[in-house]
Amino acid sequence: MPTAPSSSTTPTPLVKDVLIVGGGLVGGTLACALARHGVDVAVIDGTDPKALLAADYDGRCSAIALACQKVLDTVGLWEPMAEETQPILDIRVADGDSPLFLHYWQEDAGGPMGYMAENRSLRKAILKMLPALPSATLLAPARLATLDRSVDGVTAVLADGREIKARVVLACDGRRSQVRSMAGIGIKTLGYGQTAIVLTVEHELPHEGCAVEHFLPAGPFAILPMPGNTSSLVWTEKDHLVKGILDLPDDIFQAELEKRFGDFLGWVKPVGPRFAYPLTLQFADRYVDTRLALVGDAAHGMHPVAGQGMNYGLRDVAVITEILVNAHRLGMDLGTSTLLTDYQAMRRYDNLLMLGITDVIVRLFSNDIKPVALARRLGIAAVDKMTPLKKLFMNHAMGTVNLGHTPKLMKGEAL
Ligand SMILES: Cc1cc2nc3c(=O)[nH]c(=O)nc-3n(C[C@H](O)[C@H](O)[C@H](O)COP(=O)(O)OP(=O)(O)OC[C@H]3O[C@@H](n4cnc5c(N)ncnc54)[C@H](O)[C@@H]3O)c2cc1C
Repeated sequence: MPTAPSSSTTPTPLVKDVLIVGGGLVGGTLACALARHGVDVAVIDGTDPKALLAADYDGRCSAIALACQKVLDTVGLWEPMAEETQPILDIRVADGDSPLFLHYWQEDAGGPMGYMAENRSLRKAILKMLPALPSATLLAPARLATLDRSVDGVTAVLADGREIKARVVLACDGRRSQVRSMAGIGIKTLGYGQTAIVLTVEHELPHEGCAVEHFLPAGPFAILPMPGNTSSLVWTEKDHLVKGILDLPDDIFQAELEKRFGDFLGWVKPVGPRFAYPLTLQFADRYVDTRLALVGDAAHGMHPVAGQGMNYGLRDVAVITEILVNAHRLGMDLGTSTLLTDYQAMRRYDNLLMLGITDVIVRLFSNDIKPVALARRLGIAAVDKMTPLKKLFMNHAMGTVNLGHTPKLMKGEAL
């Protein structure tokens, strides 16, 4: 006897090679890089794409190191955002108001050392490219309800009941990674008692592409060049003072700003909202588990003193893309522990080194102990005169120093 059709049919699962959780700056770039090379990718993000592009979602601008600009360019994300970026031509670092500078010129670097871009510009480029790639599926807003990983594969069930099957899950869901917690991977966190106030300012005189960083006792104060006569500020303060500063009336806020900014760019005035980001260092105990890898801030979160958090996430992207695209071309299973441990081996120490460097800089500079301040100022002046050491620091800022294998995307080479 024929059976009556069931009224509740189970939806067919979406079957993909790779599931990416988190379609932010790192996860979105990774999804584009993999999908452009024919890897079938599903990306889920907890936030609606319209909200991700709203002016009040993320007020930050990022310094993109030259090597990471090459990653974005090779993936095809740079071209749509290029017009909204500003080349970094000089970098000037000083301890407080000391007249002794560490100064990098574009002439020493042979061209721009990197580029400044609004985070929103990269998000826009990602959200334009992803839907146009036949092997990518973006599901947003969407949330994971369960995630099962076994030797046979990965099965994710979303809060709305949709099911995704993949060979591997890549966690790009940021510092508070849900996937990392679900996998029981621990993290170490170190606080600085500092919060970054971020805002955009207009000024009277052109910045000539010069990025300025002053180390003040409360933390770094960075003036980062943006297109036209505008700059993005990262003004670090002690946590307990930040709410009061954010709530200041415009005229008093302006006066506090001028005290720190100085008058080297003529008059200065804030434009747009004030944002706040608490600053901590964190690193995951390991980057991989059964059919799972952590990428970007889900694996490592650093203080923005050197402007490297996203850059190091893009380094992860370059490495894991190369590993997975090569394996895909050979018809291999993309979730094997051999591939994932190769990724961890290539990325963990490079990330730990930068976490260590940023941590030392923050702790050394965020105080006003007189002998320490004197040593810092003399140190800055000495490094400025020591050509090989100065060049090493410059290459770090440009992203051309890499522990071990330099992936092709960071050299601007096609895979
Ligand atoms: C003040 C400040 C200035 C900075 N300046 C620079 C700089 O100049 N240069 C630089 O290189 N770096 C900089 N950084 C660091 C940089 O912003 C981060 O490293 C970068 O945003 C990390 O990107 P991500 O994609 O890994 O994580 P996130 O940007 O946190 O993105 C995570 C994504 O995952 C989604 N998500 C989260 N949880 C879930 C979930 N459970 N399910 C589904 N989706 C989820 C979110 O919606 C988001 O889209 C700065 C940081 C700060 C705080």
